Amino acid sequence: MAQLLLRAGKERSVMRRHPWIFAGSVARLSGRARAGDTVEVIADSGAFLGRAAYSPESQIRARMWSFDEATVIDHAFFKRTIAAAVARRSAHPQLTTQEGQRLIHGESDGLPGVIADRYRDTIVLQLTSAGADRWREAIVGGLLQATGCTRIYERSDSEVRGLEGLEPTTGVLAGEAPDADLQIDEYGVLLGVDAVAGHKTGFYLDQRENRRLTRDLARGRSVLNCFCYTGGFSLQALAGGAESVLSIDSSGPALDGARRNLARNPQLDASRAEWMEADVFTALRELKAAGRRFDLILLDPPKFAPSASHAQRAARAYKDINLLGFRLLNPGGVLMTYSCSGGIGLELFQSIVAGAASDAGRDAQILHRLGAAADHPVGLAFPEGEYLKGLVCQVL
Ligand code: SAH
Repeated sequence: MAQLLLRAGKERSVMRRHPWIFAGSVARLSGRARAGDTVEVIADSGAFLGRAAYSPESQIRARMWSFDEATVIDHAFFKRTIAAAVARRSAHPQLTTQEGQRLIHGESDGLPGVIADRYRDTIVLQLTSAGADRWREAIVGGLLQATGCTRIYERSDSEVRGLEGLEPTTGVLAGEAPDADLQIDEYGVLLGVDAVAGHKTGFYLDQRENRRLTRDLARGRSVLNCFCYTGGFSLQALAGGAESVLSIDSSGPALDGARRNLARNPQLDASRAEWMEADVFTALRELKAAGRRFDLILLDPPKFAPSASHAQRAARAYKDINLLGFRLLNPGGVLMTYSCSGGIGLELFQSIVAGAASDAGRDAQILHRLGAAADHPVGLAFPEGEYLKGLVCQVL
């Protein structure tokens, strides 16, 4: 097996069990390895550090599969690791009964580049690294065995594959194609999942608990849900007894999905829901100009800063929508505001939101600090895994 020899001092992060080895940490490759091959990772001292997937085209030159000399990377490794990740979800009281749940959350579950989301009997798999791509068959086998699911559909069409020199690929990996009417029950609300054409793997499971909190906060309130996608937050707000819910998204297909989702839930009062196809940045200004006010405003925008290099421009965009959000709140109103940008940490996000409140001339307090649901765990050795952060702020 080829060996990846690290430069002196560059073993430290690996010894702290961080799973990424950057190109700049590598002294040289000894032997031959192609993209996705397993290599032994060796410190400058000659010490064995672990086994990793080699990725010659990526700045992340290798991703660790294991830190233990006794662990061989083979089909059994994937079977074991996947079964353990699935078992952790089954044992978690918040997750065990969820019809939609993330089974594998990449690095934090010990499987760099592997995302697997389950929607009832269907798993949607996204492979984003050369190593994950190489072990596709083993991963599919492990998922089928650990879950009893019959269908696996691949959605490896994320742009990040390009960084690993991988082409986008989608299609059926096991069983039948996903049911055109695939739906999950999320805390009593039925939600359709378009596994084939929806965003990411079809749905944003990471916001599940935060949607539930929205339901709890929505009673009697006028709600504005910005970046609503297929209406997950909107429907939970209606379920919680919101007086009205105006939802905005720029995507027509997402709003069609939202309307269909509302129709799946005849228990909800559809007359309280209004959908608007618009750019949020423009729509918020127009609502302000029209003198509209709301009691609860949700801002769940797409990733403005995919990496730290975009942080500055992204910070301006976050500032802009949060400023408009604060201006549109009634006294006592609540802003639920999120960032899913890895490049913007919680501290920075909080300071952006604080600046927005101050520029809007509103005094506000933080009621809750939020993150992704428990099926999106963050490895303590992998702080990069913490991408979603949310603040629930009340204006005085
Ligand atoms: N809150 C949703 C997920 C939001 S994803 C949920 O819980 O399911 C972000 C959404 O923002 C996407 O649906 C995308 O279509 C939309 N979007 C992106 N840029 C936008 C813009 N400038 N104005 C309005 N919507 C936008």
